[in-house]
Amino acid sequence: MSDLMLDFRGVGLTYPGGTTALESVDLQVRRGEFVAVVGPSGCGKSSLLRIASGLGRASEGEAIVDAKRLGYVFQEATLLPWLSVLDNVALFPRLTGAGKPARRERAREALATVGLDGFQDHLPHQLSGGMRMRVSLARSLTLEPDLFLFDEPFGALDELTRQRLGEEVLRLFAEMRFAGVFVTRSVSEALYLSTRVIVMSGRPGRVVDTVDVPFGIERDPGLRFTAQFAALSERISTALREGYAA
Ligand code: ADP
Ligand code: MG
Repeated sequence: MSDLMLDFRGVGLTYPGGTTALESVDLQVRRGEFVAVVGPSGCGKSSLLRIASGLGRASEGEAIVDAKRLGYVFQEATLLPWLSVLDNVALFPRLTGAGKPARRERAREALATVGLDGFQDHLPHQLSGGMRMRVSLARSLTLEPDLFLFDEPFGALDELTRQRLGEEVLRLFAEMRFAGVFVTRSVSEALYLSTRVIVMSGRPGRVVDTVDVPFGIERDPGLRFTAQFAALSERISTALREGYAA
């Protein structure tokens, strides 16, 4: 079996109203790769993920997705406010048809994985923004995704919380080795989390640079202050600036 989870060739997307959101995007993601996508607002990043998830269709080119189980995390945690944390998380395996005790067990495990053991009976409004995002992560984890899509999941959080959640995602990736696509507007987040960064131009989004990230999967927060990290950040920022203007 091929470990190629996502294979985009010349993908273009024009919405019915006439907006062209994507233009000839080539992107291959294998299991064990974590690709960060950076690009300016409105350049088609969410559209790209929607096609990767099967919710949207390319209007040009070929978009092949070979994943069996898909995780999809959004900027908003999108929890049901009247359900407890545990029930929110148990909701996903429910959709996949597991029995109730098995669902709750999986939900408990996933909550423990994201450090929320003590909070399963809380309601979403009793949690901080960072904790709600952890619940959202846990919910996707119950599906044991082999393709994990993230659409600016930590964009609304304060810097420290954002970095800590990034560490969690890295740890999960090291453990599970899914294929990851992580959309962000933060250059340092893209670089810190990924094995590869693709930089997109302003709309219509095209890939203007691809950076293979040379760091191993075990990463330390101090990495952000190294010369190599700074040099790669500069390259990505420059590509972003040039792609935006073009
Ligand atoms: P990003 O996530 O990079 O901010 P999006 O993929 O959300 O960008 O949007 C890219 C472009 O496509 C934007 O100009 C947006 O207005 C347009 N767009 C997004 N969704 C739709 C839609 N359902 N119908 C028409 N235009 C859309
Ligand atoms: Mg978006």
